[in-house]
Formats: sequence, structure tokens, C-alpha cells
Amino acid sequence: MKVFHTVRGLRDDLNKDRRQGLRIGFVPTMGNLHDGHLALIKQARESNDVVVCSIFVNALQFGLNEDWDKYPRTYQGDCDKLREAGCDYLFHPDDIEMYPNGLDTQSRVICPTMTDVLCGASRPGHFEGVTTVVSKLFNIVQPDEAIFGIKDYQQLAVIRRMAEDLCMPIQISSAPIHREVDGLAMSSRNSYITVEERPLVTVLKDSLEWIAAEIKAGNRDFSALEETAKARIIEAGFKIDYITVCNSKTLDLAANDDVEITILGAMFTEAARLIDNLSITL
Ligand code: AMP
Repeated sequence: MKVFHTVRGLRDDLNKDRRQGLRIGFVPTMGNLHDGHLALIKQARESNDVVVCSIFVNALQFGLNEDWDKYPRTYQGDCDKLREAGCDYLFHPDDIEMYPNGLDTQSRVICPTMTDVLCGASRPGHFEGVTTVVSKLFNIVQPDEAIFGIKDYQQLAVIRRMAEDLCMPIQISSAPIHREVDGLAMSSRNSYITVEERPLVTVLKDSLEWIAAEIKAGNRDFSALEETAKARIIEAGFKIDYITVCNSKTLDLAANDDVEITILGAMFTEAARLIDNLSITL
């Protein structure tokens, strides 16, 4: 695996590959890689000739009181895992390389409406940071395909929308949620969960599954279902951000006759904010 810290270095190699007609797959990450990330790399490996992964903890998508400074950075271990998973190029820029003109005056990409709800409501500016950095990374790598995890459902929906709206010639693919044995969705932030909290945090996934079962059984009182699920999570000792039954494509609140439904949830432990989601077709 070749490691690049500069845009120019990566582009030089990718240009050669592109001239040879090779298909380029791309997986953007913030590092501290787990098996969920590596499954994305393996998926990229299957349908591309060259696999590029980026590791960049993007300050632009973190709020002022969020965990940018303490976000786990595990570069050496990440390199070993990527090599083993079959990654060809790792792009690992520093802040100056990505934002040479500074953050304040950086041009931004905004995807309206869809980013105001769910995670966007409690993390103002987050998705603007995501769409901006992903656009930059797309322009740097110019991949044929980019792969994102369904774990971050709203992020995937926003990026699909951005690519469509801005005519980006990139196939946006998704990968299933990778989970721990007890069902907890893998996340770089799971290391913030305390030993005492750990057996209890599956209440988020369990609550989403309970709502899905109720809907499948014919219950369409979505807000009552959301409230019951929230009460269960609070009872387990966690703070609720949101539990919402949505239209899978638009992320609007689900309507009674929607066929594709996604139930999304976010809750706070002492030091972590955990998200999860579950999609059903009726
Ligand atoms: P992150 O490093 O958290 O920004 O995530 C990088 C990519 O990995 C994103 O597309 C995420 O959706 C994806 N990802 C993170 N956790 C998981 C997981 N448990 N299962 C599948 N994909 C994931």
C-alpha cells in the first residue's frame, strides 16, 4: 500500500492509473478503523482495480463542543489493517493540506433541508462540513465509485443527493451496518462507552427493532411508537437525541402509505453519542 500525504502525490499516481483505464474505488474515513470500515474496503476491492482510502479527522464537521481533539487517532494500526484488507493507496493529509486557506474562508457545499433534521438538528453545521470535505475528496481522488456505510444513514442520503444535484460522475454505493456480536453498531466512538454502560447500549437497536416489528404488524401510529421507544431508552439510563420513523428516500416523517421506511435513532451515553437505523419495506 502506498501512503500519500499530499494531493499532488496522490493525483500523480491516480492519473497514471486512470490513463491505463483502471477503475478507481474510494472509501473516505476518519480512521480508528474497525471491521465495518474494512468491509467497505473489501467491497471496493471487489468492483474496482484500484482502492483508495482516506483518513482525515475533518474539523469542519465537528461542533465547537464536540470531540475533534479527542477523536481516537490510531494511524499505525490503521495502516496495518488497510494493507491486510487490500487497500492500494492511503491518502492521509494534514489540516493545512486539506484547508490551505484556513477553515473560516473555505468555500462550502450545502445540501439544504435534508440536513436540518435528525443528526443535523442536534449537530448544526455538521453536514455542511461533511459535504464540503467529501466534495473536496471527490475532486482530489476522482473515483468511479465511492462507498459509504448505511450505519450513517443520513450521511449516505445527503451524499447521494449532493452527487445527484451537482452532477458528480461518481457511483455512490452503500455497505451494510457491521455490528458487534450483541448487535451494537460498530463505531470509532464506541471506545467512549463505559464498562457499566456497555451491556445496556443495545437498547437503541432493540428499540428500533421493536418499532419495525410493530409497523410490520400494522401499527401506523408512528409518534406513539417513537414515544414508547424513547421511554424504554430513558429507562435504561440514556438521554435521547431522537427516535424518528422516516421515509427512506426523503428522510421526511413517514406517511401512512409509505412503502420504504427507515427508523433512525440517536442517544447519548455519558461520553458518547450513538446512532443506529433500520430500514423496512412494507
Ligand atoms: P467514519 O470513519 O466514522 O467517518 O466512517 C467512515 C465510513 O465508514 C462511513 O461511510 C461510515 O458510514 C462507515 N462505517 C462506520 N461504521 C460502520 C459500520 N459499523 N458498518 C458499516 N459502515 C460503517
